Amino acid sequence: MSHDPNCIFCRIAAGEIPAQKVHEDDELIAFKDIRPAAPVHLLIIPREHIATLADAEPRHQALLGRMALLATKLAREHGADNGFRTVINTGPDGGQEVYHLHMHVMGGPRPWKQG
Ligand code: 5GP
Ligand code: ZN
Repeated sequence: MSHDPNCIFCRIAAGEIPAQKVHEDDELIAFKDIRPAAPVHLLIIPREHIATLADAEPRHQALLGRMALLATKLAREHGADNGFRTVINTGPDGGQEVYHLHMHVMGGPRPWKQG
């Protein structure tokens, strides 16, 4: 499993930097965004360091599917029963700030950022 010691999300996955984790398994971790843009704002990341969605390979197909399924499970568990947004920012023009693949899960009662 690739681990980049300079990557903040790899360090969160390794437990080297604290985060409010809401899910952990062999492949995925989810935690609360440090600057929430919605009442529920979670980030789902793979343990493996994949820099962006555009770097994902065919062997990551199931992993990407698991991220989407986990988004629904966590949204429900965190009270976003009335709907939520999933967002993956990719690359500079995609507004990506942290270069470790992550899926935003944003929900909760409106109004909040519409994007
Ligand atoms: P991006 O623009 O790359 O899609 O979003 C990165 C997200 O990661 C931002 O929403 C930001 O608030 C969040 N973030 C950045 N650093 C940390 C951190 O150290 N801990 C947590 N929990 N979230 C972070
Ligand atoms: Zn990483």
